[in-house]
Amino acid sequence: MISGLEALERLREGNRRFAAGSRSLNEQADQLRRAETAQQQEPFAIILGCSDSRVPAELVFDQGVGDLFVIRVAGNIVAPSQIGSVEFAAEQFGTRLVVVLGHSRCGAVAATLEQLQKPAENQSPNLASIVERIRPSVEGLLSSEPDDDRAALIERGVRANVVASVEHLKHGSSVLEQLIESERLLVVGAEYSLETGEVEFFSCGQPITGQA
Ligand SMILES: [Zn+2]
Repeated sequence: MISGLEALERLREGNRRFAAGSRSLNEQADQLRRAETAQQQEPFAIILGCSDSRVPAELVFDQGVGDLFVIRVAGNIVAPSQIGSVEFAAEQFGTRLVVVLGHSRCGAVAATLEQLQKPAENQSPNLASIVERIRPSVEGLLSSEPDDDRAALIERGVRANVVASVEHLKHGSSVLEQLIESERLLVVGAEYSLETGEVEFFSCGQPITGQA
């Protein structure tokens, strides 16, 4: 298995190709990869991303069949089933990089801010369970942004929500904590821009260099 840093570099390069409109994969390569990976997989990165239709992980990182272990949920939140999925991939395949991938104009973050500002009484409990996961990371922002700057508020909310998910993954599981401590797992945050197609990575406290 390649290191977390090598995996990160591979994602950066793939995203550069995607943003530049020069994707490397074609149908033939997909078929070949399908045959190669039918018996076993060795995904080099775990992506916990938002369900938003405009942020398909394999496409934005220009990767193919068998390359990425992807968990998608609205608002890239971290609940027990997401932690379990990351644990599974890290332990089962030895994957050494986890990327929490948020994105600009995230509807789940916007909905959470809206709910905080104007609570709807009859919100579905299932949807509320997502909003409740996002709430702690964004509610502190409400007092610092004037009401009319909604776009800036969502932008900061997206970033804060990614950072919170990274922290939750790092500290919400003894399995992952041990892997991180022994430098066998790197967890980073990232934000995808719907406008440019570019992904910006950020470390969320853990240095991106010299780890995993
Ligand atoms: Zn989203």
